[in-house]
Amino acid sequence: MGEFDLIARYFTRPVRKAALGVGDDCALLAPAPGMQLAVSSDMLVEGRHFFADVDPEALGHKALAVNLSDLAACGARPLAFTLALSLPRVDEAWLAGFSRGMWALADAHGCELVGGDTTQGPLNICITVFGEVPAGQALLRSGARPGDDIYVSGTLGDARLALEALLGHITLPDDVLARARQRLERPTPRVPLGLALRGVASSAMDVSDGLLGDLSHILKASGVGASIDTHITSNLIAASAYISSARGQFDPNFVHQCTLAGGDDYELAFTASPARRTAVAAASHSSNTPVTRIGTVSAEPGLRLVDAQGQPVQHRYASFDHFQ
Ligand code: ADP
Ligand code: MG
Repeated sequence: MGEFDLIARYFTRPVRKAALGVGDDCALLAPAPGMQLAVSSDMLVEGRHFFADVDPEALGHKALAVNLSDLAACGARPLAFTLALSLPRVDEAWLAGFSRGMWALADAHGCELVGGDTTQGPLNICITVFGEVPAGQALLRSGARPGDDIYVSGTLGDARLALEALLGHITLPDDVLARARQRLERPTPRVPLGLALRGVASSAMDVSDGLLGDLSHILKASGVGASIDTHITSNLIAASAYISSARGQFDPNFVHQCTLAGGDDYELAFTASPARRTAVAAASHSSNTPVTRIGTVSAEPGLRLVDAQGQPVQHRYASFDHFQ
């Protein structure tokens, strides 16, 4: 199968929202008047972001999910995406699985594939997403103010737990691993929550490299500090029931490592004025996405961790950095 047959077979579908999809030199998008285009790219590299033998359907899902997560963080509605794919060879079973996972998530979000590039080389997947947001309403990292509440959606740390098990660093019972692995391989982009938080959150971002590191980007962009209650964040790992039953097996800092610096969570971290607590609860409810208040923004710079008694917790939890 040649390059163009491959594109026609696995990556071409009629578009409905875009003015022009796959097949010409450019795709054409038609954002509604008064809207801004939100654009983001994320690349997934074999051996770096995923194991070579990962289920291709899960990989197709994840490649798009991590990009949709960026739109969610900005409160943008998904419109379209492009796919730049480097493949070692034409493996039709792999392509069928990969495209199935990708299309299922694309359809669930009404996000159309409008173009891309296909080349031979080491397995590498780069998606660029385009979303729309009313002018001036995008959620940014720079809006956190002293006194704001800090929230995170969903659960934290399970993807890291699965990674540690897959790397052979820890052992988990099959059912616990299966659930954690689902979080690692099939993250849920929090698009409905991001949309519901427009006009409610003062700042937002998605948690991809670990909560503390990512939160520090919000703090820096906003020129503020924060304190985070680690007693609350420790309970956000979905496997917490198992971990507490197997307490002796894990270093006490292991749960903090997973929840505070785990990576691959693809949850939203956001801030909102305490005056907006009812509005945050309504956004959580309408988007069917749990959110938990984990701390407070302060004028004093730096990130402080406290335990259930409000006592400081020492930490050295570094987030993921490709070059460190
Ligand atoms: P060009 O020569 O202009 O770079 P290509 O020959 O690479 O275009 O691609 C032909 C058409 O197929 C273009 O419309 C391009 O956007 C689309 N395309 C290429 N690869 C992919 C892919 N992996 N997914 C979706 N569309 C693709
Ligand atoms: Mg061209």
